[in-house]
Amino acid sequence: MTQYDKPLPHPNEETRGFWEGCNRGELLMQRCTDCCTFRFFPRPMCHVCNSMNAEWVKVSGKGKVFSWVVVRQGSPSFAGDVPYVVASVQLAEQDDLRMFGNIEGCAPEDIELDMPVEVFFDEVTEEVSLPKWKPA
Ligand SMILES: [Zn+2]
Repeated sequence: MTQYDKPLPHPNEETRGFWEGCNRGELLMQRCTDCCTFRFFPRPMCHVCNSMNAEWVKVSGKGKVFSWVVVRQGSPSFAGDVPYVVASVQLAEQDDLRMFGNIEGCAPEDIELDMPVEVFFDEVTEEVSLPKWKPA
């Protein structure tokens, strides 16, 4: 495997479950066990009911494009990737459940609002798989 010189996640107590799921090819979201609201990014407290109780739930990995940008000038480690897309993807499970990620597998100019996408996992190192999105 070639050297990967882009930023990598540093899992902590709050995010470890998410990243371990990615490494298994599963998209996991935190869900409050009191009011059943999903949340992302992972954090200790529910933003709806203030509960500190949560569980990791495997979600469908399906969503739609909520918003996106096309990056045309990259920092040095991303220079070979331009143009590339960073999108806010609204997950199928809940209207306000969104996460950022790259969309690959189509030209940036072909991306549309509400376009259906599905997650895939890019094994960028032996220890890290990053969630990314592709047209569904
Ligand atoms: Zn809650």
